[in-house]
Amino acid sequence: MKKTPIGHVACPVCDFPDAQVKEDKNGHAYIHCGDCNAQTFTRNEFRNGKLRGRMRAVTVTVTDDTVTVTAPEPVLVPVPKVQEKPVLMPPPAKKAGWLQPILAKG
Ligand SMILES: [Zn+2]
Repeated sequence: MKKTPIGHVACPVCDFPDAQVKEDKNGHAYIHCGDCNAQTFTRNEFRNGKLRGRMRAVTVTVTDDTVTVTAPEPVLVPVPKVQEKPVLMPPPAKKAGWLQPILAKG
């Protein structure tokens, strides 16, 4: 069974830049160089993490070519014009004259 690469990294043996990174049966990443055919196994979580951190991960898997990418049409939303109401200032309060307390008593 052909294993799908999970990423690519430079081969530590021959420096081939696109050596494939695959997973072994334990889920640990290992390098399989397609150029010199060297295999570099990580065998534990520590080195597995290190290799996965270094590799260029394969993130896009194209399974069929019917996928078309269409740019979304720019949607122009009409901005409703808000009619501003004239702000009515309250009339200035009348200053109570000095007579006011006296007049109020009456
Ligand atoms: Zn190599």
